[in-house]
Amino acid sequence: MTGHKPRKGTTAQTTDTPFAGLSIQGESAARRAATIWATDSEAADYTRSQPDGVVACRERGRHQYPATRGSITEGPPFVDITPEGFYVREIPCDSCRHVNEDGTPGLPRVIRREVWDVKHKRGVITGQPQLVSAKPQVVDPDYLNPKGQGRIKPRQVRQAVVGEALAGQGIKDLRQRIIRERDERNRLITEAYERQQATQAADAERAKLAAVPDAG
Ligand SMILES: [Zn+2]
Repeated sequence: MTGHKPRKGTTAQTTDTPFAGLSIQGESAARRAATIWATDSEAADYTRSQPDGVVACRERGRHQYPATRGSITEGPPFVDITPEGFYVREIPCDSCRHVNEDGTPGLPRVIRREVWDVKHKRGVITGQPQLVSAKPQVVDPDYLNPKGQGRIKPRQVRQAVVGEALAGQGIKDLRQRIIRERDERNRLITEAYERQQATQAADAERAKLAAVPDAG
């Protein structure tokens, strides 16, 4: 052996940046593959423990922020200024925020933090402000699933909710009930159409009679 040991620096670099050397597309694919996903039972536990609004955001895979026009009130549209001089807006997600006991919107769990560049010249604001970045930020750790568990996929949430609705039911009862209710629904729809057609036919008949000149 002539001592061709890998240099320390080389090894460390490979471990620290596992995505080095990949294209941007390759890198994001590799990141997705490297993501730790929650198991179905972890997702089910999470879904059971969270209120409807939070489960809705998880199922959509996105949050529901109010439109910009609706969320701008009187006064400055910003809540903060960064040390670099950028302006900050914080918009709470309407779906997953807490709800107060009296039903009014409570503290947010997730906000969208927008960073704006407001250009000015000689003390006067010029041109349109530019949106530099807009990222969701979890402000209440309650939104996250327990530490050490992976990310939850929207389909896992959907499966957990339907699974909860089915829990403990017999498959035979389930099937019979579905078929019974389907047949009943179809019967009502058919009857409604028949009634509608009868009414239309009667109306047409009356219109025809009214159009005939009175021979008497
Ligand atoms: Zn949300």
